[in-house]
Amino acid sequence: MASSLIRRPGLATGPGTLERWLTGPRIGPLPSRSMREPPPLLSFEFFPPRSEALEAQLWACIRRLEPLAPRFVSVTYGAGGSTQERTHATVLGIVRETSLVPAAHLTCVGASRAETAAIARRYWKAGVRHIVALRGDPAPGTRYAPHPEGCAYAADLVALLREVADFDISVAAYPETHPEASSPGADLDNLKRKLDAGATRAITQYFFDTAVYLRFLDRCLAAGISAPIVPGIMPVSNFAQAVRFSALCGASVPGWLGELFEGTENDPETRRMVAAVVAAEQVRLLQANGVDEFHFYTLNRPDLTYAIAHILGVRLRPRAEAAPGDRAE
Ligand SMILES: Cc1cc2nc3c(=O)[nH]c(=O)nc-3n(C[C@H](O)[C@H](O)[C@H](O)COP(=O)(O)OP(=O)(O)OC[C@H]3O[C@@H](n4cnc5c(N)ncnc54)[C@H](O)[C@@H]3O)c2cc1C
Repeated sequence: MASSLIRRPGLATGPGTLERWLTGPRIGPLPSRSMREPPPLLSFEFFPPRSEALEAQLWACIRRLEPLAPRFVSVTYGAGGSTQERTHATVLGIVRETSLVPAAHLTCVGASRAETAAIARRYWKAGVRHIVALRGDPAPGTRYAPHPEGCAYAADLVALLREVADFDISVAAYPETHPEASSPGADLDNLKRKLDAGATRAITQYFFDTAVYLRFLDRCLAAGISAPIVPGIMPVSNFAQAVRFSALCGASVPGWLGELFEGTENDPETRRMVAAVVAAEQVRLLQANGVDEFHFYTLNRPDLTYAIAHILGVRLRPRAEAAPGDRAE
């Protein structure tokens, strides 16, 4: 081929091409999961819609992901407690209209303990058995201050929920440390307090550097934590937005990620393909390291999550067959 005759500047006097290729480290393929092994357990996070158009988008997303039989799907609670009714309506819609197990996010922000307990009781009565218990973020531009009669921290909320009913409770964990924590050690102590208060698992803030998460698991184990610390996976299709959001929530954005998305600002198709490759590589690496539970921040868009679930070995099950929480055989 003519191209083999083209000399690359700067390499003319260096080692030959093959020699150069062969002096790098040898990296083997990631091990593939055998299709005989059970596929991983998945959960999906949605946010409550603000408009009819967004409502239609949410329901299209739910319907697309439902046959993957996630063990639960969760619905967020807006910053400052701003979506209480919409979160409630969405969770109840999921109870009524689908075969999915819903988990309602509930925060401490702006509510007394009595009001929070009343919301939890309302969920229990409606058949909701899983709560994602959070301190919550205050309304944008304000600092968090606990309600004078409310729960100050998520650990207090977990304890309150335990008094209300026998909920399955998930809490948040931060592989890169929560931005308001006084130290990584204090943040880890807080995670342990939440689990000791009665939570059954933690779901992590999203991260892009897999090594950061794996090191965090080591620290959790050393701190005596044995509950699952489920990785939160954020398939990034809007890089600029992810950078803005990461600055707020304390997730670092590695330089290589910016380089991968560079030049795709006006090219959504390429951006989506890059996003799929990045997220697929991340979950494959986690899976190769033994992780078999994943939580996806779907942003109410199903396609990347669906494709990545497929790569993880999860296969479609017809709606009638799909028992949420089962590992599909
Ligand atoms: C999986 C996941 C889902 C989320 N969903 C939502 C949502 O639906 N709605 C929403 O508003 N936000 C949500 N968030 C964001 C979350 O509310 C914020 O990160 C919030 O700032 C902290 O919530 P937390 O539950 O981790 O708080 P906590 O565990 O209470 O910790 C908050 C901070 O206080 C510190 N702390 C805890 N206890 C003490 C103490 N006794 N003394 C001193 N410091 C203490 C902690 O180290 C930490 O820095 C979510 C986050 C994650 C990871």
